[in-house]
Amino acid sequence: MSKPRRPDPSPYLHLLEQLKACFPMPVSNPVMDGYFVHTLSRFLDRVDDLKSGVPLLGPSSRVPYENLMQERFPEKRRTVEEVTRLLVEYCQDMPIWAHPNAQVNVVPATTIPSITAFVAAAIYNPNIISDAYSARFATAEMQTVAMTADLIGYDPQQAGGVFTFSGTGTNFYGCKLGIEKVLGGRAMEEGIREDVKIISSAASHYSRLNVSGWLGVGMRNLVTIPTTPDNDMSLPHLEECLRRAFDAGEKVGVIIATMGTTDAFGLDDLGAIVRLRDQLAREYGLEQPPHIHADAVIGWVWSVFRDYDFAANPLGFHGRTLKALEDSLKRLGDLALADSLGIDFHKTGYAPYVSSLFLVKDRRDLALLSRHPKEMPYLYQVGSYHPGIYTLECSRPGSGALAAYANIRLLGKEGYRVLIGHNVEMAEMLRQRLEAHPSIRVVNHRNFGSVTLFRVYPPGVEAAAAYRREAGDPAYREQLEAHNFYNRRVFQLIHDRAMRGEGVLLSWTDAHRHADYGGEAGPPIAALKSYILSPWTDLAAVEMVARQVVEVRDQMESER
Ligand SMILES: *Cc1c(COP(=O)(O)O)cnc(C)c1O
Repeated sequence: MSKPRRPDPSPYLHLLEQLKACFPMPVSNPVMDGYFVHTLSRFLDRVDDLKSGVPLLGPSSRVPYENLMQERFPEKRRTVEEVTRLLVEYCQDMPIWAHPNAQVNVVPATTIPSITAFVAAAIYNPNIISDAYSARFATAEMQTVAMTADLIGYDPQQAGGVFTFSGTGTNFYGCKLGIEKVLGGRAMEEGIREDVKIISSAASHYSRLNVSGWLGVGMRNLVTIPTTPDNDMSLPHLEECLRRAFDAGEKVGVIIATMGTTDAFGLDDLGAIVRLRDQLAREYGLEQPPHIHADAVIGWVWSVFRDYDFAANPLGFHGRTLKALEDSLKRLGDLALADSLGIDFHKTGYAPYVSSLFLVKDRRDLALLSRHPKEMPYLYQVGSYHPGIYTLECSRPGSGALAAYANIRLLGKEGYRVLIGHNVEMAEMLRQRLEAHPSIRVVNHRNFGSVTLFRVYPPGVEAAAAYRREAGDPAYREQLEAHNFYNRRVFQLIHDRAMRGEGVLLSWTDAHRHADYGGEAGPPIAALKSYILSPWTDLAAVEMVARQVVEVRDQMESER
């Protein structure tokens, strides 16, 4: 008698076995765990091979964008090794932000612990919608909220906050709170049925446009206050604007104070803005004064200098640096005056994208955002943390929170003081060298971060005088435009050199400001931009910037 035949296993089961090898093992298995580590390590080795003297991973491999749309969803599988090799290709052409000669923008090098935090989140995949799905990643969020509240001067017992999808996201949260407050908490349920103003400066981040458009107050309710030559909000204009609004019975939901503008590191006078708000609220008997949100996504980290001993100067910064830090601190030392603020660890906090924290002075404000207003968020009750009740996101990664937590533990105030102090020190050295040249004008000379904006002028043009006329003299408009063009060419030649490994990668802004005449429609004044954030940027890199500007200018002369 023959044995009953076992049915053949389905063919897919064989494939499933192969696919299991594409995942980290759920149960410890030294062989497969080794395979995972080996895969990552091979990847890193291969990417390392793309490094050279140039501040980019090479070699250049741009594909024409038209070709990209030829891609179709593949039928067949590829191996882990094949895909790893593909991923290496996708790192080609990336700037190396940590490179001493990458002075492009406010994009940081990332620390090893913050990268490890992202890896941890990528493997174990927490979702901080609730602690049930994120366990101790959720506690990292709460601890980071407490530590940053303490850093900037909020009472950690009262403050609250959540990590969100970007600095833009922090502005979303701040403005949403202001709108809810001024509309008596009804907007969530009933929608916005009347005009609500959002006020910010002309140098504030363009995300104000997204926020007002997407939140439904409309861009036409965005009020833009002119800035002073130092890129901060003009207070007389703000007062006039607020009075006009209150006289007309208009609702002002939010004033955004920008604490470190993106291009120039302009700092609004938060203290004066709060005092003005409070005074006008009394004078007009406002039931609900405007919410003040500090867009401190760049400037927050200067708070580490709040308790630096400037007199003893234990870190030994140079005089110019100390002065710059102290001047910045006059505006950044009291962020706690704001009702809420935004912090980007992926900018001046040396964490990977995205790591953005929205912080509120009074965590009860977050109840205004909960989808069932009668139901208080179960905030900080033991064993149940459900921020998903009031966050904009449903799925919310644990990577940003854990990376921020890691960097705070890694660096402490001392480490951040060293990194930021060094950036400012290098930027001051750069300014010194640029200012020494009669044809170069530093155009944010009273903004003291690590960003330097400058313009270069052709021979025979005296920089300081030319810049003054560009800013204020309508009769000089043609020259202004010619000089913009000239600077663009300087930028291009510097860029070409950097790509050959012979210089520093800078960036360009079409309009670091507009000329004073013609209102917001005044002609733009462009500038070259050096943003120093890398701990590897040294005096040699700074001197290279100054030297290459002069050399490129000479080269342009000889080509005329
Ligand atoms: C970068 C920036 C933002 C936007 O932050 P993202 O993280 O890029 O969305 C907002 N405000 C200021 C001042 C910024 O510099």
